[in-house]
Amino acid sequence: MTLDDIIAQHHNQVLARIQAAAKRAGRPVDAVGLIAVSKQQPVAAIRAAYRAGQRAFGESYLQEALTKQAQLTDLTDIEWHFIGRIQSNKTRQIAAHFDWVHGLADPGHARRLSEQRPVGRSPLNVCLQVNLSGETTKGGVAPEALGPLLEHCRALPGLCVRGLMTLPAPSEDEATQRRPFRQLRELRDRFATPDCPLEVLSMGMSDDLEAAILEGATLVRIGSAIFGARLG
Ligand SMILES: *Cc1c(COP(=O)(O)O)cnc(C)c1O
Repeated sequence: MTLDDIIAQHHNQVLARIQAAAKRAGRPVDAVGLIAVSKQQPVAAIRAAYRAGQRAFGESYLQEALTKQAQLTDLTDIEWHFIGRIQSNKTRQIAAHFDWVHGLADPGHARRLSEQRPVGRSPLNVCLQVNLSGETTKGGVAPEALGPLLEHCRALPGLCVRGLMTLPAPSEDEATQRRPFRQLRELRDRFATPDCPLEVLSMGMSDDLEAAILEGATLVRIGSAIFGARLG
């Protein structure tokens, strides 16, 4: 099988998993979007996923992403999601080269991304990251700090706050996997307002997408289940 065939097959398998989980959750299948996480994957793999119909791609490392984007300018309808750690000295390029940022958790980063969003582009879509496993190594704000961060970000003209994101510690069993996802949904329900409904819950990866969808994920971020092992 060619790379194209393999990735198309994996992509289909992921779509089938999403469909089955949505069905189990009693949710419409089109309520769950798929971001293909192409970090540490070559441009050829992105092209293969694109040919399989994938349009939203997630990248974690800015320089790597910019290099690949420069080789993919012919694919004009790709939607780029920055899902990595944000560094202050990288915000200008993130604001210029991405459509979405997941994992926003710092008011200063938010202000910079807003100010640096190029004139004439629609506001940058952002998801605020919440740390629900209490691990200091993971990014995200504590649940208690979400309210003030949300107020701050909503006031920034260059940003459009779309929802919440979380990246829990990996776990084996579904009940444990579901706990932080449920907490994220409950936070969303608590902070949603008519003019900022926080309709996006960005949660779920290759190993826990079912648990995330059962708890209301609207965007799952899937890497290895589509592309296989990463180069790095
Ligand atoms: C790498 C990564 C993913 C994808 O992980 P897989 O286990 O390969 O599906 C999702 N979200 C974030 C934030 C990541 O860094």
